[in-house]
Amino acid sequence: MKNRFQIAVFHGDGIGPEIMKPTQAILSHLEKRTDAYSLTFDVAPAGAAHYAETGESLPQSSLDKARNADAILLSAMGLPSIRYEDGTEISPQIELRKALDLFAGVRPVRIYKGLHSPLSLKDHDHIDFVLIRESTEGLFFSQGAGEVTNDEATEVLKITRKTSEKLFRFAFELANLRKRSGEGRGHVTCVDKANVFRAFAFFRELFNEEAVKHPQLTFDHAYVDATALWMVQKPWIFDVMVTENMFGDILSDLGAGLMGGLGLAPSADMGEHHAVFQPCHGSAPDIAGNNIANPFAMILSAAMMLDWLGQKHHNSTMVEDGKHLRQAVYDVVNEGTQTTADLGGNASTDEACSAVVKALQA
Ligand code: NAD
Ligand code: MN
Repeated sequence: MKNRFQIAVFHGDGIGPEIMKPTQAILSHLEKRTDAYSLTFDVAPAGAAHYAETGESLPQSSLDKARNADAILLSAMGLPSIRYEDGTEISPQIELRKALDLFAGVRPVRIYKGLHSPLSLKDHDHIDFVLIRESTEGLFFSQGAGEVTNDEATEVLKITRKTSEKLFRFAFELANLRKRSGEGRGHVTCVDKANVFRAFAFFRELFNEEAVKHPQLTFDHAYVDATALWMVQKPWIFDVMVTENMFGDILSDLGAGLMGGLGLAPSADMGEHHAVFQPCHGSAPDIAGNNIANPFAMILSAAMMLDWLGQKHHNSTMVEDGKHLRQAVYDVVNEGTQTTADLGGNASTDEACSAVVKALQA
């Protein structure tokens, strides 16, 4: 059983380092109080500011650190003011997805007490589902290579058997894990548009091929438009949802909206061998440098990392620590006095992090 883990850390741009440093401190606090595992952090320079300084956005040495690490913790990257010559932004987080074949974008949507959800929920309504967004193909396949003439524009949507098989296996395995831990009921929904597009009929067929291999789990299909409706009207019906890249891009923001915004939305980009954990929000340059950024999406992403590493290496202490950390954030949000301005409070980033450490000790 492995219990020493190397974490590659990308501090990122804007508020990135402000929320990463205290998150790292919280992780150190957790690992120092147990012998069950240890973490070492290996800082990997990358991002827009790094590009402005050195002409490189993701140096080979940083990519190597990511590749060799047990997990990758990444804060927001990119700055609108710093761009490549073609006008596009520096986004090493997207390069990492490609380089490490991180095909599954995992976006948990949990609604708990204290969140400013726009849904009006009754006490017994339990909303806890995970959206899996395919992250390497779909409508993003032709990103940057679409064809535009004076009269028309064409982009290509690509669904491959190879990636879809990996994606659906991942989705059913996650549903199985959630069922075993009591977080979900073991149900997977394939979100597509198979009524209109042949590519999505193919997507659905591949989903069904995987589904029959898991008799202990249940499954169904939903069209993406109806899914958007149901996420608002009856989100408690979902457990694990799996979908194409563009659909997932849109639905995951809807999911964040249900939680009251991006400030509490963690994510993981996973492949078969690597995983990047990062908040869903960007580098928030408008508030950077003021110690007022909300660190909770970053901390919740770190909790996902502990959970994932613990599951993968059969380290139950790590899994428990992941759960405790998540609960500590929920407690602080619910209590309400130590939250940052975006959540209606007036705590600084550091104060919000201290409150999480206190909740961990309680
Ligand atoms: P953004 O998420 O950075 O900011 C949108 C709004 O939300 C801003 O008003 C910001 O102040 C606020 N906000 C975001 N995170 C917050 C936090 N933790 N606490 C409090 N307020 C927060 O999105 P944007 O303005 O579109 O993008 C800014 C930069 O971030 C761009 O360069 C963009 O490319 C990059 N970006 C990176 C990622 C990533 O690293 N995964 C994701 C999205 C955007
Ligand atoms: Mn998006």
